[in-house]
Amino acid sequence: MHKLVLIKHVLVETGNGEKKLLENNTLVAWCLRGRESNHMHMDEIKRELASIISAVKARIDLEERFGVDTITLSKSNKVTSRPLPNVVPQIKPIEAAVVRKPVKEQISASGAGTNVCPPDDSTKISGDLTFMSEKERKRKLLEEIRNEMLACHKCPLGKTRTNLVFGVGNPLARLMFVGEAPGRDEDLQGEPFVGRAGQLLTKIIEAIGMKRSDVYIANVLKCRPPGNRNPLPEEIVLCMPYLIKQIEIIQPKVLCALGTFAAQTLLNTKAPVGTLRGRFHEYKGIPMMVTFHPAYLLRNPNDKVKVWDDMKKVRDFLGELSGKDSKI
Ligand code: SF4
Repeated sequence: MHKLVLIKHVLVETGNGEKKLLENNTLVAWCLRGRESNHMHMDEIKRELASIISAVKARIDLEERFGVDTITLSKSNKVTSRPLPNVVPQIKPIEAAVVRKPVKEQISASGAGTNVCPPDDSTKISGDLTFMSEKERKRKLLEEIRNEMLACHKCPLGKTRTNLVFGVGNPLARLMFVGEAPGRDEDLQGEPFVGRAGQLLTKIIEAIGMKRSDVYIANVLKCRPPGNRNPLPEEIVLCMPYLIKQIEIIQPKVLCALGTFAAQTLLNTKAPVGTLRGRFHEYKGIPMMVTFHPAYLLRNPNDKVKVWDDMKKVRDFLGELSGKDSKI
């Protein structure tokens, strides 16, 4: 009903910058008048209508996401626009959501192992006027998924975990790493790649001229398999939708699969990592490098040189993209 009402009305900007809300029939009449006075063709009118309706749909989707389900209209047929500050608070604050979770989950949500990036101060424009930047929007979407996952017990790992290990990093990351599953340290701290393998990953990231805070890091499984055993296929199937959502929100320019499970899962193949590594594949249109898992490198340090080769390709690829972006 909400959508129907909104689609029936369309916001248009008048010549003096004033925004008016027109019903469909008014809008058509307005366009037809435009056609008479400006010799607009019917095709142009259709395109104009399509673009206005598409903008309205996008606005409706955004507002629905924020829990806005009504728009108040004054009798003068003007939009009584709600300033964004009235919209943003309708999002459930993460602290409020976390309070109702078990104690062990609260620790990961608010303590040192938090997976949530600090608020982006750049979104504060002035006084109480707050606009949502792209970074803030993505951060909130990730928070929503994470809050949803705190109660996840779709597979038995939900019962044995200490903390959910969602993911960490920059929501606007151009490079996203995907590992296998949390280990003991990660399970305790609620953050991926924090043990010895994690320290090695940090060094790998720094070796290509980036900081850990520049990238995003997640695992295929969000809960630790007991005794660090390999993930089971059914656990991967049940947990994979969360990773897919993370990738869809972050939209990295490049993915990097670390180790067998991440590579085989994202590429839907049984090929060993040794034959997949060293070249770009594609995951849903995103270029994806495959390389060895840092934990493997700790046991096989001679293969570090291969990972360095792989990461140089990632670095060069991102560098080329930056060059292209700066020319646009
Ligand atoms: S591993 Fe994934 S699917 Fe299984 S309980 Fe944890 S979050 Fe849920």
